Amino acid sequence: TDEQVNFGIDDLPVRDELRGKSPYGAPQLDVPVRLNTNENPYQLPEPLVERIAERVREAARDLNRYPDRDAVELRTQLAKYLTDTSGHEVGLANVWAANGSNEVIQQLLQTFGGPGRTAIGFEPSYSMHALIARGTGTGWISGPRNADFTVDVEAAVQAISENQPDVVFITTPNNPTGNAVPPETVLALYEAAQAAKPSMVVVDEAYIEFSHGDSLLPLIEGRPNLVVSRTMSKAFGAAGLRLGYLAAHPAVVDAVQLVRLPYHLSAVTQATALAALEHTDTLLKYVEQLKSERDRLVSELRAAGYEVVESDANFVQFGRFEDSHTAWQAILDRGVLVRDNGIPGWLRVSAGTPGENDAFLDAVRDIKKEQS
Ligand code: PMP
Repeated sequence: TDEQVNFGIDDLPVRDELRGKSPYGAPQLDVPVRLNTNENPYQLPEPLVERIAERVREAARDLNRYPDRDAVELRTQLAKYLTDTSGHEVGLANVWAANGSNEVIQQLLQTFGGPGRTAIGFEPSYSMHALIARGTGTGWISGPRNADFTVDVEAAVQAISENQPDVVFITTPNNPTGNAVPPETVLALYEAAQAAKPSMVVVDEAYIEFSHGDSLLPLIEGRPNLVVSRTMSKAFGAAGLRLGYLAAHPAVVDAVQLVRLPYHLSAVTQATALAALEHTDTLLKYVEQLKSERDRLVSELRAAGYEVVESDANFVQFGRFEDSHTAWQAILDRGVLVRDNGIPGWLRVSAGTPGENDAFLDAVRDIKKEQS
């Protein structure tokens, strides 16, 4: 009806800070090769699919009951995974889980941000940090980065001292640029964030399993205001599962429970995540393949004459283009979907299967040829 057509968001009494804004929107297009959302290109192995079915069938019988509100078994297994892979011992009390690390971040901002408080990130970085800040009424401060996308320690420390944010986000490896942040930098920012008043520092390690370097998880020891956030969406190849988690001092785990919705993690989610964790070794083998494909993308892109940011993630930022949107479209016209993150001159490609990466490399070589 006319009434429905002529009435939109801004005609509703929505909060002022949401007016004129658009939702997070990576296009979900039906294209042969989709390398735009940093997903793992490998389907789950059949034995794991079977195990998920088994675990979910068991959980299904008890769906008349609410799930384990504290997700004790799942958090215990996540703690074991973190201990095994980082060499730093963490337990149930250090780990919290939610529906994707986006929800972990939301819970952290609901707990430590909120109206009258601020959070800072060093941009370009993961755009959802700013969007979740807005959604939770937390003021957002856009911190600086160098032209080569590394964190400018001096400028970052200064931005923290001047603004005294309540929450500091450090994404390592960074999305969309792919580069890791050295531990010394994280420590310098942590110190700066404690200098004027105690602030929380959230290290977003969504892509850490793909890194050449180690997780910063051991840094939580003796630093109760440091939180490491993780996800099963990338390395575990389970973006559809929606399972993120954090490791921190037990007090942080207690604090986020003040804002979490009761029974936020469904019994089906918990069962599925537990099945996936039983198959960690197999899933991490795919990570090794993806790391070598990522390294191949970096070297082949360079050989084809592109500029590439050093990558510790399962994606690569490449350029430069006079107009990145036109380049994005030209790649799409060749059947490959990559990501335009709105960084002038640059695009981002996720590491796919060898065949998908070949298709992408053919497309970008073809475009170079046309230009010259
Ligand atoms: N952090 C970073 C840096 C990301 O790139 C992503 C996914 N794009 C997330 C967190 C959120 O992932 P999820 O909610 O799937 O765990």
